[in-house]
Formats: sequence, structure tokens, C-alpha cells
Amino acid sequence: MVREERRQFGGIPMEILWKTNMKNFHVRAYPPDGRIRVTLPASITDWELESFLATQREAIEKLQEKAMTQEQEAKPSFTTGDICYLWGKPYRLEVIETIGAPRVFRMGDTLRMYVPKGTSSARKEALYEKVCQLELKKVYPAVARACEERTGLHPTEYRLKNMKTRWGTCNVKARRVWLNTQLAKKPPQCLEYVLIHELTHLVEKNHNARFYALVEQYCPVWREAERLLNGKVAKPRP
Ligand SMILES: [Zn+2]
Repeated sequence: MVREERRQFGGIPMEILWKTNMKNFHVRAYPPDGRIRVTLPASITDWELESFLATQREAIEKLQEKAMTQEQEAKPSFTTGDICYLWGKPYRLEVIETIGAPRVFRMGDTLRMYVPKGTSSARKEALYEKVCQLELKKVYPAVARACEERTGLHPTEYRLKNMKTRWGTCNVKARRVWLNTQLAKKPPQCLEYVLIHELTHLVEKNHNARFYALVEQYCPVWREAERLLNGKVAKPRP
């Protein structure tokens, strides 16, 4: 890679990558948020890029919309037989209608959900998200400690939140790191990468070459983790 930049075009945030081995422009949109990545030959000037984007605007918007709806289609409907992920491992959902308060148990490869009859799929999804929140709450402190030790960077606090478009954020001023509770669905190296990524923002605010050099140093598997985070579903490790 020669150069990487983030910029807005027509209100659409994009990652632009100039690469030496490229012959043509490539545009991809990634689920779940329809993030746009444009890869192009290193020789392309800013002006050529701008005019390419101007002619492709409609096509890019369509790609983005497709990536966003794809994710929705892949979402389970929360009925028995659906697959739900925890730490990248697939669990078969078993919905059992019962009386009393809803509860969820993990039994081997099965996620058993006890719910009152007629519980909506939105409510069942909320239960699954709650399981993810509890999982992350239990697991992240030890991983965060290890990442802090490795980087020598220490935030004042961590907070967890179910977020729609971000895996994590870092409020640099307050030195506060936010983690998306949905990280509990992804393989463990994803949590590690997001922690390293957000901690690195404490010393480098922008996604520039210095930032990625530091991330690479602290977390050599970051590319793989990023790929897993942006994939449609978390694939189990062999
Ligand atoms: Zn970042």
C-alpha cells in the first residue's frame, strides 16, 4: 500500500487506498454499515479520483445499500434451529416456551432460550444481545489489562454499549474507551484488535500511517481481525 486516507464524498465516508499493484479502480461496500472502500492505482491523482467518484456516485450508493440490507437478511429470526454466535463459535438456538422470567443457557453447542409463549423475535433478539453484553463484561477486563500492558497506554475507563455502526470508539479527551457489546459474537482476536485500536487513538487520533504502524506493532493479526469484523458472519476457527 502506498497511501491511505479517509474522506467524505457526497456525504458518504470512504476509505481510499492507493496501491502500486492496482490497474483499475475497485469499489467495495462492507456490511453491516455499508462502509465504502475504494482501491486505486498509485498513479491516480486527486483530481482523477474526484471525477471517478462523481461519475460513480449512484452506483456507489446502490452498493452501499446492498451491503446494509445483506446484513439484515443474514440476521437470525430467533426461532429454533437458527445460528447465534458467541466468540465466533456457532450455537444452535433452541427456543423453549415456558412460564416465568425469560432465561438463556449455553449447553454444549446449543443456546437454550426459555421464553413465555408468543415472545416476539425482537424480544428474543434483545435477550441474545443481553447475553452478549454479559459475556463481554466478563471477558474484556483481562484482555484490556493485557493490551494496556503491551501498549503502555491506559484509559481512565471502559464502557460497554450496543452500537450499530462502530466496534469501538475512543474519546481521547476523556480518555474513555467504548466497546460494542456485539464484539462477544466475534472471534476473540477481534476484541483484542478493537482494544488495541482504541488504545492507540490515545497517542494518535487519526487513522494515518503512524497509527497503523503502531497497531501493527501491538497486534500483528489486526488485518485478519478486521476482516472477521467486517465479514457477514463470524466464521468459527478450525
Ligand atoms: Zn479508529
